[in-house]
Amino acid sequence: MATVAQDVSFELKLDQLARVAIEVGLGLAKGQELVMTAPLDAVPLARRITEQAYRAGASLVTTFYADDETALMRYRFAPDEAFDKAAGWLYDGMGAAFKSGAARLAITGASPLLLSNEDPDKVGRANRAVSMAYRPALELITRHEINWTIVASATPAWAKTMFPDDAPEVALRKLWDAIFFTSRVDRDDPVAAWKEHDAGLLRRAAKMNEKRYAALQYRGPGTDFRLGLADDHLWMGGGTTAGNGLYCIPNMPTEEIFTTPHKDRADGTVTASKPLSHQGTLIEGIRVRFEAGRIVEAHATRGLEVLEKLISTDDGARRLGEVALVPHSSPIAASGLLYYNTLFDENAASHIALGQAYTSCLKNGDKLSKEELAAKGANDSLIHVDWMIGSGELDIDGITATGVAEPVMRGGEWVA
Ligand code: ZN
Ligand code: ZN
Repeated sequence: MATVAQDVSFELKLDQLARVAIEVGLGLAKGQELVMTAPLDAVPLARRITEQAYRAGASLVTTFYADDETALMRYRFAPDEAFDKAAGWLYDGMGAAFKSGAARLAITGASPLLLSNEDPDKVGRANRAVSMAYRPALELITRHEINWTIVASATPAWAKTMFPDDAPEVALRKLWDAIFFTSRVDRDDPVAAWKEHDAGLLRRAAKMNEKRYAALQYRGPGTDFRLGLADDHLWMGGGTTAGNGLYCIPNMPTEEIFTTPHKDRADGTVTASKPLSHQGTLIEGIRVRFEAGRIVEAHATRGLEVLEKLISTDDGARRLGEVALVPHSSPIAASGLLYYNTLFDENAASHIALGQAYTSCLKNGDKLSKEELAAKGANDSLIHVDWMIGSGELDIDGITATGVAEPVMRGGEWVA
């Protein structure tokens, strides 16, 4: 952490994180409304972000808080039939806000293992109910019709999961330091650091777009896998101009370039390189085999039941909707930590995602009908779950349209 300015106080860094989230992550426009969601333990950051939003000209900031303990009470005391229910009215309202011009900011930081001891059937049903209720609003986000971003706040429960042997205040401080470091807010000029990083990701994506590979071939421990890319796929990375004309960087941190794979063209075996923390449960030792795009065999050393439930959500849940490349030397990977949080762990390693494809990763994708998208190979599902397959031992080749293999990554690093 050579760039940490020792004299910069915690409070200042928290302010910087809020400022970067509003100015660079969200690109909030003057007069724009903001809808924010946050864990209750993230109130200090939510307040800073609210202040920065109003200073940037926000017309109204509305925040919905979620509390881990309250969420658990449902599993303790609610009747069984309750788990198919979701607050549809809330998601409809969020969708209405987005349609009328609101930006979306999510603060992540809930306890990663909150639901790990709960009945997987109830967890699965509750997740499915939320996915269905949230889908219309979420589509505005996956289609990049509005400016949106996700930032992280350290919370005591998350810190305890990551640093179980430390005293609570030490663990919390360590997690904050990791967030500040990976979110580049401990630099002298965080906004400039982000602009430079963003430009680098855009350049890398442009290079892959020039190549127009038909497929990627992965080789590594437990992995021998070929993944076709969707017709007219576009590699993306860093920021994007949303449909409302505002430039946003949807994830902070972000280290990935990503595109849409072909839903019918995945073959071979892939082994996860990190555990998958999914909605409060941990799935470890994932190994799956694909045939013609579909998972035909799934293994896990822990949490297999949750994985099975997940891939049974709908037909698209067994197929891939995203492929992303992240060098093994990314700052998040370099921190050597497992975050149990997708925002961080997916940016520490190359990954693939089960489920819904990002239509913005196809030429004119946002203007295509469901049938046209499917014809190009874009997957459709209620879920979108990233899992990590990259490591310092992963080799990736790009396969050209004529079947020639070119090295893209060796030992987890970009070749050129
Ligand atoms: Zn990704
Ligand atoms: Zn993803």
